[in-house]
Amino acid sequence: MNPFSLAGRRALVTGANTGIGQAIAWAMGRAGAEVVCAARGDCSETMAGLPNGRAVTLDLSDPLSASDLFKGEGIDILVNNAGTIHREDAIDVASDDWDRVIDLNLKSVYFTTQAFARERIAHGLGGAVVNIASLLSFQGGIRVPAYTASKHAVAGVTKALANEWAAKGLNVNAIAPGYIVTNNTAALRADADRSQSILDRIPAGRWGKADDIGEAAVFLSSPAAHYIHGVVLPVDGGWLAR
Ligand code: NAP
Repeated sequence: MNPFSLAGRRALVTGANTGIGQAIAWAMGRAGAEVVCAARGDCSETMAGLPNGRAVTLDLSDPLSASDLFKGEGIDILVNNAGTIHREDAIDVASDDWDRVIDLNLKSVYFTTQAFARERIAHGLGGAVVNIASLLSFQGGIRVPAYTASKHAVAGVTKALANEWAAKGLNVNAIAPGYIVTNNTAALRADADRSQSILDRIPAGRWGKADDIGEAAVFLSSPAAHYIHGVVLPVDGGWLAR
């Protein structure tokens, strides 16, 4: 048996229509998993790159919207990837913008994972959860206080759930992507000075690609990672080591 294979597994990836979520969906498909692409919009581009799988509509603006999603579906890998960012001087951030970021990046991650775990545990089955955290699970960032709060909390929730569920056969881990070329970082890359200063600090000498995250998500979902619980794995070209 190849311990890095996901053959026979069924994975649901939130925000699978684009960016990191799309790359994770494709990487899991290459590793042999059947992939359920969950997105609030059109997932056809992702589906076109998958050998098998299906799409479900999932708008996580309501953090409880995945409550019934896993019942009887045989999904044994959950990737909580959907997320948003709000860039503004900390002094100006409004309550609504704070809530929107926290509700999607933290509350929906928690309650989607709870729904997944209820289904797995009720049937005495294991599984894997991969949360997409951030460098801002470790650092403060600039002009993104709600995002930083949410991603620090994702790291904490990852550890808390790992402690409760490791003995039940559920692996709960997270990936902390570095600076990856996606919509999320478009504003940073549009600012030539900021973009260059970020690049100058990355030991690997390049921005990350969404594919860099996909392969790490496969690893954390695979039998090779069965004894790994509660880690927040940086995939950042060495940024945090610097
Ligand atoms: P992205 O291209 O902006 O993707 C964000 C994804 O989240 C999209 O699929 C988006 O769907 C989805 N989403 C947003 N609001 C949603 C909602 N209410 N319900 C359901 N889905 C929703 O950015 P990305 O970089 O791939 O981000 C993916 C994850 O990686 C996020 O959690 C982000 O915080 C994290 N991350 C990214 C970086 C980076 O450098 N790019 C670094 C660290 C962490 P729509 O397309 O419909 O908006």
